[in-house]
Amino acid sequence: VNGVSWLHGEVSKEILGDLWPGYFKNELHIGYVTNGVHFPTWTAMRLRRLYARYFPEGFEGHEYRISEWKKVYDIPDEDLWQERMVLKEKLVRLIRRRYCDPGQVRMDSPHQVMQVLESIKPDVLKIGFARRFATYKRALLLFTDLDRLAAIVNNKERPVQFIFAGKAHPNDQPGQDLIKRIIEVAAMPQFSGKIIFLQNYDMELARRLVQGVDVWLNTPTRPLEASGTSGEKCVMNGVLQFSVLDGWWVEGYKEGAGWALPMETVFSDPQYQNELDAEMIYNTIEEEIVPKYYDRDADGIPRAWMASVKKCIAEIASNFTTNRMLRDYEVRFYNRLAARKWELVENDFAAARELVAWKHKVLAAWPGVKIVDVQRARVGDKPIFIGRSYHFELTLDLAGLAPEDVGAELVVARPVEPDRVVEVIRTVPLSQVQVSGSQVTFALDYVPEQAGMFDMALRIFPQNPMLPHRMDFALVKWA
Ligand SMILES: *Cc1c(COP(=O)(O)O)cnc(C)c1O
Repeated sequence: VNGVSWLHGEVSKEILGDLWPGYFKNELHIGYVTNGVHFPTWTAMRLRRLYARYFPEGFEGHEYRISEWKKVYDIPDEDLWQERMVLKEKLVRLIRRRYCDPGQVRMDSPHQVMQVLESIKPDVLKIGFARRFATYKRALLLFTDLDRLAAIVNNKERPVQFIFAGKAHPNDQPGQDLIKRIIEVAAMPQFSGKIIFLQNYDMELARRLVQGVDVWLNTPTRPLEASGTSGEKCVMNGVLQFSVLDGWWVEGYKEGAGWALPMETVFSDPQYQNELDAEMIYNTIEEEIVPKYYDRDADGIPRAWMASVKKCIAEIASNFTTNRMLRDYEVRFYNRLAARKWELVENDFAAARELVAWKHKVLAAWPGVKIVDVQRARVGDKPIFIGRSYHFELTLDLAGLAPEDVGAELVVARPVEPDRVVEVIRTVPLSQVQVSGSQVTFALDYVPEQAGMFDMALRIFPQNPMLPHRMDFALVKWA
């Protein structure tokens, strides 16, 4: 019942929507809780100490106080920059250590090893890309135009280094081929020491990377990234995220605190879409990321970059901790589920037994329930007015059910068109106005509140206050 990001919730409704005929996708009980990451695990100790001097209430208690994170703006740029540079140096040292260990660089020629050792320096802008090499993550997108990429990494004044890491599943040949290609490109003379592939990706290496690079790149095929979490690890450390608007980044992205490729696909041909995305990635790196990083003041501090880093910590990182995630699970799902559980099990499952018996009864009777008469407000060609009242009536034959077993409602939707997802605007319940024999009549005086074109229809459904939501027992008949 829950996706792991807002977009994943939406996509899940698309995928699962047909399970409940009679209900539309935006009425489903599918919600979401966006993944978060464990702040103390993924945030560098040095940064946690620095943050604790300015906003301990933000993350030291049982409940994180997100608004406190704004105090990151009080940290002098120099201090935060200094810590960022220390973390980059640590990453550089780790890479050097690995390149001095033959077991860690089995793919690289001796010449390449020398080049990496020579060129890996903390003052070069570093862009990280580390993850499982599943093909939807499009690890090779960056290699769409190798000449352009070569110009970016080999810029004399403003060089860029790309650091790749990751594994593919042992049975995922296409995923393994991606890694092969990255290693191939990294070995080309123009990329030697500029594109680095680190072997043996694990949590330890992940931690160094998400703390030590400047920018984290993610380029999934939309909308296949359910959430993604490595970028969340980055933003806690003031590492700016550059990603397709997919998964958590749809909610995380704030202008000026990272970069985004649009959420919409423009081309149905994936080849064209890849080319367009690659083009936008190169442009963003050249025109936005590189200048922002290398523009320094007299003290050597990139002020605009630091403004982005602070905004990223204050307004993005604070919302993607496990603490916030668990709170959402409690409030949106667990508390209600727990309360319901106790209700159902009490007195040797009395409520559960009652509900099951009721469902059996309704299931058996439902085919016989008939809509006998419908009175709709007849408006013909005349306009409908906001604030005026329109009468609806619906009479049913209950086929042995009790009047309280059945509800009726008016469903108001945006105009329904073929091949378009139906968008329900609101549902308005009808009241029972008369019971006579096996028949019950419902009525509603509907007062439109919104201007525009709408489609409206009436439907009936079984009702019982013990049902957690409609989809739990999704029988529907339309009038
Ligand atoms: C965080 C993490 C992942 C998951 O990263 P995604 O961005 O969700 O793909 C995978 N592997 C390791 C080692 C990690 O630390």
